Amino acid sequence: MALRIPFIAGNWKMFKTNKEALEFAEEFKKLYQDTDVKTAICAPFTQLETLKKAFAGTCIGVGAQNMHFEDEGAFTGEISLPMLKEIGVDYCIIGHSERRQYFAETDETVNLKLKKLLNESDIVPILCVGENLEQREAGKESEIVENQIKADLDGLSADKVARMVIAYEPIWAIGTGKTASAEQAGEMCALIRRVLEKLYDEDVCDQVTIQYGGSVKPENATEIMNMGEVDGALVGGASLKPDKFMGIINF
Ligand code: PGA
Repeated sequence: MALRIPFIAGNWKMFKTNKEALEFAEEFKKLYQDTDVKTAICAPFTQLETLKKAFAGTCIGVGAQNMHFEDEGAFTGEISLPMLKEIGVDYCIIGHSERRQYFAETDETVNLKLKKLLNESDIVPILCVGENLEQREAGKESEIVENQIKADLDGLSADKVARMVIAYEPIWAIGTGKTASAEQAGEMCALIRRVLEKLYDEDVCDQVTIQYGGSVKPENATEIMNMGEVDGALVGGASLKPDKFMGIINF
């Protein structure tokens, strides 16, 4: 079984100006010590270059939060892969539930974006999947997540999928302070691994990094990270403060 390195990524969503991002970076670099845990900040587009420069020479990665699947064209407000490549970002979140909910992201567009990223760059996608409260209460979470994974990865080869990160983020736990229990997080991450084994093989399933996301904070990080199949966390609110984010990395 491949040894997966724990990976804690911050998702700043639509927070921080460039100036605030730089202040964060300076403070975070002071707190950051070499660790066996991989880390990255996924920031709004306007801050990516600033963060890449601020984190140069460190192990701290930088990620975007979305990308369009066309190279260029009349797509007002969108950002393309060549633009991200030029900045040198390391990661790109794809299919976050807020994109699916408020910006008409579908499994089809998620699939096109994953293909673009994986076939034409070394940027690592962080694919987000997860059920909403109604689906959880109806006991449909496994079915929902399995269907998302199948549709999102459709047509992608095993070698490409092996370098992905998948974040299980139950929508009802995002920004609500309501965390899935460590058991629920562990069960769903294990389910994702079984789906990958069915779709590909044991090798792929062993290599993919699977994160949990939803109200992760320093206080619950250890318990979540200790669940067998959880390799890391995608952290929203608690990644905005250097000391809190560092507290999670040092889980
Ligand atoms: P949260 O967000 O940690 O603020 O719940 C997680 C996410 O949306 O990635």
